[in-house]
Amino acid sequence: MKNIAILGSTGSIGTQALEVVRANPQLYVLDALTAQNNAKLLIEQALEFKPSLVVIGDESKHQEVKSALPNCKVLCGDEALVTAVTLPQTQMVLTAVVGFSGLIPTIEAIKAKKNIALANKETLVVAGELVMNLAKEHGVKIIPVDSEHSAIFQCLVGEENNPIEKIYLTASGGPFRGRNLEFLKNVTKTEALKHPNWVMGAKITIDSATLMNKGLEVIEAKWLFGLEAHQIDVIVHPQSIIHSIVQFKDGSMKAQMGVPDMKLPIHYALAYPQRIETNFERFDFLKYPEMTFSKPDTTCFRNLNIAFEAMKKGGNTPCIINAANEIAVAAFLKDEVGFLQMSNIIEQCVTEISFIEKPSLNNYLETDKHTRILAEKLIKNI
Ligand code: NDP
Ligand code: MG
Repeated sequence: MKNIAILGSTGSIGTQALEVVRANPQLYVLDALTAQNNAKLLIEQALEFKPSLVVIGDESKHQEVKSALPNCKVLCGDEALVTAVTLPQTQMVLTAVVGFSGLIPTIEAIKAKKNIALANKETLVVAGELVMNLAKEHGVKIIPVDSEHSAIFQCLVGEENNPIEKIYLTASGGPFRGRNLEFLKNVTKTEALKHPNWVMGAKITIDSATLMNKGLEVIEAKWLFGLEAHQIDVIVHPQSIIHSIVQFKDGSMKAQMGVPDMKLPIHYALAYPQRIETNFERFDFLKYPEMTFSKPDTTCFRNLNIAFEAMKKGGNTPCIINAANEIAVAAFLKDEVGFLQMSNIIEQCVTEISFIEKPSLNNYLETDKHTRILAEKLIKNI
């Protein structure tokens, strides 16, 4: 039995993780579940899975959750997430919250020596060096849930002494693959929220449409696998069957494949190093007689290059692009900015926020705060 805490249990990854737990009651015990606003679903989940602790971010919903769960400890607010990741019996924390909010609880979980199943890529984008160093110091494993990084992680099993020459992160290209700038100027959030291959939370779905998701994943890969910029390439593969590829120094390549289903990498991360039997759909070659590959269009989808440049510049730059992007995406979802304007906001924040070469945790928190204020201001002036 493995004791698990899930941060963000009401989200896309969180609910799929609970499906995995539901199908394997002999393997997992849930210690803690957390949500930000969705009290109704959180209560349902807690009644089914009976965790010892439940956290609701929104303080106005604290009483509602408490009354519905008299046999469970119920806390509220951001600081309660730290309690949720540091329960003594917990062995693994699945970080499935969205955005910068994952950083502090992940750091606290690592300090409490909990292994991390990492869905929240923004944690590594913002503070990858600091987080990976902490994990090393505390002997904690970080097992990626992001499908591309899970693929690379799986390709590296048994290759501990063989350095990576290069990795290829595959990208579906999103709903606007092949479209030109004229078209992109006027796309709506409804169109952008229709991802061809994956059903995900709103923020990552917009990130997929702008290719920022792939940019964030490039930075995530750098830290997870200790790579330099020239060792990371992105290739568009619209079928999303090959989840990513590792190339070794003999020129040999290993790829991990499967039908696009996030439950697979979630399963792998929770059960690692074992593989658990599933009845998930099996891949049928004849349904995919063609697998295609092409270069990402970085003229129309500038965010991928913005992220590459931020990674090369280092310091607090990835933290700036992450915060600016979170604000820009939220504004796009409220129809306050156009699709192409999101990249302008991010670029302007990189220009205007002070660069810090070797940021401390406090520097990251400050950078995030100042960037959000600036991005909001830029949006108001549009
Ligand atoms: P969702 O938006 O579906 O879910 C986010 C979860 O986090 C919800 O439980 C939400 O609670 C909670 N939450 C939202 N804001 C906060 C906050 N400020 N503080 C604490 N909790 C919060 O996101 P996804 O599940 O799609 O994504 C989660 C993470 O996993 C992201 O970092 C994403 O990049 C990554 N990921 C997701 C994939 C996917 O297929 N969805 C694939 C690969 C990576 P509530 O429901 O109450 O709002
Ligand atoms: Mg991914």
